[in-house]
Amino acid sequence: MNEKAIELVDTVRYIADRGWSPATGGNYSVRIDEQHCLITQSGIDKASLTEDDLMVCNLDGQSEQPGLIPSAEAALHTALYRADHGIGAVLHTHSVNATVLSRASGKRIVITGYEMQKALSGNKTHAESIEFYIFDNNQDIPALANRVIEEFPQQPGFLVRGHGLYAWGSSVAEARRHVEGFEFLFACLWQERLLGR
Ligand SMILES: [Zn+2]
Repeated sequence: MNEKAIELVDTVRYIADRGWSPATGGNYSVRIDEQHCLITQSGIDKASLTEDDLMVCNLDGQSEQPGLIPSAEAALHTALYRADHGIGAVLHTHSVNATVLSRASGKRIVITGYEMQKALSGNKTHAESIEFYIFDNNQDIPALANRVIEEFPQQPGFLVRGHGLYAWGSSVAEARRHVEGFEFLFACLWQERLLGR
């Protein structure tokens, strides 16, 4: 469990250093067994995150540590873990590119032709068309989680409109690669739109 905590803290600080998790926004978790995950506590500055800022939460989204409050979006993390046993980590960022692109798009973004598509597990070539799903934001996190699970995204992540990115992987390392791939692609897509393409 300690190794997973160290890996998660390292990744969250890396993400915060890139400006993808400002103002205590975003939340991050790693599965520790079939019933539990470690998740960031509510309201913590991610740039200075330590292992003491993580807590154990069960996969119903409830705190296993009296007095500690998990992120307000814990229910979305735990719904993903329950829906797919292969998910080992969930990373949720609040980047500018994800926020702007999601507000300027419909329910889906279809992309093709980017080498970076291969950073997302399951994609072997730039030549395929792949879809990013966008869900409308909702302060009722269990309701948002139900929508996501019903329409389960094809790619290892999705956008929440005006809010940010959720990405996952079988491990923290894979989830981190997915965040980097998504963020790169969002930056490209936004710059292409500015160019009128
Ligand atoms: Zn959020």
